[in-house]
Amino acid sequence: MKNSLSRRDILQGLITSTVVIGFDTVCRSWVTHANAAELFVNLPDLDGVLYTDDATREKAADDFGHLVRHYPKAVLKPGSINDIVKIIRFARNYNLKVAARGQGHTCYGQAQVENGVVIDTSTLNKIHNINTLQVVVDAGVRWSELLQATLPQQLTPPVLTDYLELSIGGTLSNGGIGGAAHRYGVQVDNVLELQVVTGEGELLTCSFYKNRDLFEAVLAGLGQCAIIVRATVRLIKAFANARVFLLDYDDLATFTRDQRLLIDSERFNYVEGQIVSKQDGGWRYLLEAASFYTPPLEPDNTRLLASLSYTKGSEKIEDKSYFDFLNRLAPTVAFLKSIDVWSNPHPWINLFVPATAVDQYISEVVSTLTLADTGNSPVLLYPVKTNRFTLPLFRVPNEQIAFLFTILRTAPPNDDTTKVRMLNDNRKLFERNRDLNGTRYPVDAIAFSQEDWQQHFGRTWSKLVNAKRRYDPARILTPGQSIFSLLKKS
Ligand SMILES: Cc1cc2nc3c(=O)[nH]c(=O)nc-3n(C[C@H](O)[C@H](O)[C@H](O)COP(=O)(O)OP(=O)(O)OC[C@H]3O[C@@H](n4cnc5c(N)ncnc54)[C@H](O)[C@@H]3O)c2cc1C
Repeated sequence: MKNSLSRRDILQGLITSTVVIGFDTVCRSWVTHANAAELFVNLPDLDGVLYTDDATREKAADDFGHLVRHYPKAVLKPGSINDIVKIIRFARNYNLKVAARGQGHTCYGQAQVENGVVIDTSTLNKIHNINTLQVVVDAGVRWSELLQATLPQQLTPPVLTDYLELSIGGTLSNGGIGGAAHRYGVQVDNVLELQVVTGEGELLTCSFYKNRDLFEAVLAGLGQCAIIVRATVRLIKAFANARVFLLDYDDLATFTRDQRLLIDSERFNYVEGQIVSKQDGGWRYLLEAASFYTPPLEPDNTRLLASLSYTKGSEKIEDKSYFDFLNRLAPTVAFLKSIDVWSNPHPWINLFVPATAVDQYISEVVSTLTLADTGNSPVLLYPVKTNRFTLPLFRVPNEQIAFLFTILRTAPPNDDTTKVRMLNDNRKLFERNRDLNGTRYPVDAIAFSQEDWQQHFGRTWSKLVNAKRRYDPARILTPGQSIFSLLKKS
């Protein structure tokens, strides 16, 4: 059950003399050898390290959004699943809040805990067992690592996110959407079993057949009832290559109609799309579709493109290896890092727009949208079939088709005015979409009250509340989502 912590990690803990030996329940601070007072409670023996140094806490107080900061008292780098059990029991006893942090790629403090303990799952990093149907994997493993482990056996998870450097636990707490979702649902729909540690510090296994209420409260459950420590993820046969088609549209209604036609016929393995700025101002639309294949068999381009109404002659067709296609953002991310833009603030907005409203809603949005609003960053728009989604807490509009609409905004550094304007715009766009019966994909940056959450979860709100009362009655888990701040303790 032990996971490897690097010697560097352990040494760093020792050198900073922050090896925590206990907790002073009066001052509510950690006790180290250096500052040991007479009265304190002993920290349980850990296989990993509990860090209290400023640099580690600073990192855990930030995320990809760089919009809010909540400083934890300590960061656990677990050396085993048992460490998580021990720390959660300890935290529960001394009323400390706890949140798991995968790669910290949410945008609005979702993995942060003011004065509490962040569990950095990146040290839970083993891929255990791969067979033709499934893989058992620790929550801290990144999807890129999992894919690199399954591909040599010509196997792949059915759905992957656009960016692969996200943790298994992080996306399974949210959903995990990508261009194959119209066929296979989101990543949570492809989980067969989970091992979790509840807010009571109980290590439990859950699946559709065992502890189903817990399984359904954890998948897309925003970390509210348990920390995912291990997942069994479904695998399917992987193809060797992807043929990628990029098709231009001037007209929104034609674009969304063709996207719908493609997901309806399932001619492609992957369908997404973008709203792209025109050189002379305004917006055009780019349909992205991919057909996976293994030579000598090849996709039939004529059949794939039949009856589509893109701007003829605009099509770009390219073959890539399956891995390079899935990992297609890596070069862009490397470039953005090299010019220091990757670390800028990201007031992202992610919504699901009902298909019946999408043309009206997006027309309204793009009529005033400028590059200053997006920070010259991508705007995504693509459809999914809602009957592929099986988990109650993954909230989408009550229609057969919904469109994921995201503005991946980048704000300039040190420019609070722009950040605030973008956040206000997010709220306005969210409310307009909500009025049209749309929903939010909550990995983004939108100020949300408990009333908003209740409305978001709709008929599943009571299910979540009951699960919270059962599995995290002291409400210590994942306060950064601000879902249960006002709920009376049971
Ligand atoms: C560049 C980029 C591209 C993205 N592309 C996509 C995409 O294509 N599709 C998509 O669906 N999303 C996408 N996202 C959003 C992403 O899925 C979420 O932000 C996801 O939560 C990130 O995983 P993480 O490991 O960084 O999670 P974190 O940000 O670390 O955590 C997110 C939330 O999950 C909780 N959590 C983390 N680990 C666990 C665990 N083990 N158990 C319980 N709760 C846990 C945290 O407490 C927090 O509340 C993208 C984000 C970025 C920055």
